[in-house]
Amino acid sequence: MVAERLEELLGNEIKESSNEEIYGALLKLVKEQLNGKGYNEGKKKVYYISAEFLIGKLLSNNLINLGIYDEVKQVLKENGKCLSDLEEMELEPSLGNGGLGRLAACFIDSIATLGMNGAGVTLNYHLGLFKQVFEDGLQKEIPNNWITDCCWEDKVVNRSYEVPFKDFTLKSTLYDIDVSGYNSKSVKLHLFDVETVDETIVSDGIQFDQEDIKRNLTLFIYPDDSTKQGQLLRIYQQYFMVSNGAQLAIEEAKERGCEDLRTLPEYVVIQINDTHPSMVIPELIRLLTKEGLTTEEAIEVVKKTCAYTNHTILAEALEKWPVDYLEEVVPHLLPIIRELDKRVKAVYKDPSVAIIDEQNLVHMAHMDIHYCFSVNGVAALHTDILKNSELNHFYKLYPEKFNNKTNGITFRRWLIHSNPELSSYIEQLIGDGFKRDADELEQLMKYTDNQEVLEELLNIKKKAKITLKEFLKENTGEDVNEDSIYDIQVKRLHEYKRQQLNVLYIIHKYLEIKEGKKPTTPITFIFGAKAAPAYVIAKEIIHAILCLQKLINQDPEVSPYIKVVMVENYNVTAGEKLFPACDISEQISLASKEASGTGNMKFMLNGAVTLGTMDGANVEIANLVGNENIYIFGESSESVIEHYKNADYRSMDYIKNDREIARLVGFLLSPEMIEAGDYDHLARLHREIVTKDWFMTLLDLKEYIRVKDQAFADYENRRQWARKMLVNIAKSGFFSSDRTIRQYQEEIWKL
Ligand SMILES: *Cc1c(COP(=O)(O)O)cnc(C)c1O
Repeated sequence: MVAERLEELLGNEIKESSNEEIYGALLKLVKEQLNGKGYNEGKKKVYYISAEFLIGKLLSNNLINLGIYDEVKQVLKENGKCLSDLEEMELEPSLGNGGLGRLAACFIDSIATLGMNGAGVTLNYHLGLFKQVFEDGLQKEIPNNWITDCCWEDKVVNRSYEVPFKDFTLKSTLYDIDVSGYNSKSVKLHLFDVETVDETIVSDGIQFDQEDIKRNLTLFIYPDDSTKQGQLLRIYQQYFMVSNGAQLAIEEAKERGCEDLRTLPEYVVIQINDTHPSMVIPELIRLLTKEGLTTEEAIEVVKKTCAYTNHTILAEALEKWPVDYLEEVVPHLLPIIRELDKRVKAVYKDPSVAIIDEQNLVHMAHMDIHYCFSVNGVAALHTDILKNSELNHFYKLYPEKFNNKTNGITFRRWLIHSNPELSSYIEQLIGDGFKRDADELEQLMKYTDNQEVLEELLNIKKKAKITLKEFLKENTGEDVNEDSIYDIQVKRLHEYKRQQLNVLYIIHKYLEIKEGKKPTTPITFIFGAKAAPAYVIAKEIIHAILCLQKLINQDPEVSPYIKVVMVENYNVTAGEKLFPACDISEQISLASKEASGTGNMKFMLNGAVTLGTMDGANVEIANLVGNENIYIFGESSESVIEHYKNADYRSMDYIKNDREIARLVGFLLSPEMIEAGDYDHLARLHREIVTKDWFMTLLDLKEYIRVKDQAFADYENRRQWARKMLVNIAKSGFFSSDRTIRQYQEEIWKL
């Protein structure tokens, strides 16, 4: 059946067609089938509004979810073609930055799989985040041109809204991507855009005129906001996204029979993913009053329609917009925001819960908490920290609003698609029920002492390591040893995630080898991370990693024992190769700072053992697998929070009091490092660690070294290690995003 339709679409035989032609035909075929799936058309619908949806390539995932992956693969093979060659041709949509965007993508997959009535709303960023390239050991950014004639988005002809700004009005256009659920219905990801956007205004990497809104509005996600112009652009983007989302939600509610907009909460729930979409609150009020509701009524509707997800406790990440800036972009929202603030101030005298503070800054998260009916954190520890410290003032006002929804990942992409070998072996052992009900993975626990099963897990891991080795060769030019331990830290680059701690460990290992102490099994340290273009220290950490890569890999005395490789342009596609091949998953954020993490879950599911702090969802992983199947180190979140409160952490004290620490930090400015890299860049990182070290790298350094050395030593007992792998896989079912989405449904959305 697939073969016939494919040849019809090609107008030619498969074997006579080029890969480009087949890819194009396959895209059409999949779109036809997605369309035929139908959508849930229930009364109430969830709109998941998010600045990012890091969806990854879609061909294979769609084939899997449509249940035709094996058939297509077979048909192609019979005709001398290879599905993975076709996959290579697809460009990854660059619609996100990191975990928050990837979470949104996993959620859309689960909403579709569970057959719920929902949609995603975001912008159609033409050039995405940016593509990372390394030049002279430094990150450079270039545009990521991912939209082609042959991609998954389709222009929607009959949806367009007018979005008013201070000096002009923009008419939106809409592009949709259909996302299929696993053997289930589809949902739509809506990407709003404006026709006038012009990619040719970008030059010199990712530079463009930030004031030319009509031409720049949807060029990039998270344009540089280190200047006022950049911040104004972000406000333009955010308002454009939420105004379209709100107008769409109202229009569709009417189409589903909502005659009186006072009943909107029976038809619509809006999930606000972090604060970027927070302006949807005043915008909905504006639209509803335009439709004839009183302000009072509109506010009541919004309070029953909107729910907010908090993703961070980093103060600098909680958005605050100056009233003046909003005045310059969306003056029509200010009377509404002022009214919302007035109502808060009338009831609560505490200035720390105001929406507009004394410096005339609008606190987006505060507006969310006051005017949403639900406020959720994304892991148990994170929600506890919100309740008990970060947002304690708010928790006391609204204890009933606060709830936890521990993040999850879609097992279709992160197991079935990215690790088919492991997936089919699991199926052989316990049947295929785990594909719909991830909790069934627990049945693997009966094999913890089965020699043959443990042996096979090691074989599968080895194959994934060989595949990654080939990818690394292509991506970085480096040759790694497939028999080495793969120790992997891939995630956005941020000081709180502490890639610099890992760097100091590698220096420790390097110096040990130079002194003659060689590891029993060689180790490959693998990194992947993009730094925000304006985040200077993050870029210096990348530089330090690339210096170590050069220094170590080229040293014949050291490179047989350890190697360092940093993947260029870490994204979902790279992740699909990295997670299956990992032995040790580095989750080493400063306790209390990582809200949840989802990379930790992907690694666990693929049989990696976590080396981590008691932070984010690591805490829940540790509780599930038990102490013998995870490596935990570092000070607790309580004591870290104490350190901040008392302002008593001084990195200099650690350097003065501990010669080993002094030596490792000092090595950043050694002749070897300067020879491999650039003095100014290394000196800036060195100075940061010595004088500031805001995320307390040195606090946990000694224990990190000790516990990591223990993990490497334990790796030598292959059978016991395989048992740890098995337990991690067996206990990962809890982290399926299907579970998370069921909880959102039952406790928040109530569709
Ligand atoms: C899962 C994922 C992330 C999130 O990783 P964390 O370790 O949870 O920060 C970021 N980027 C990509 C491409 C991912 O797949």
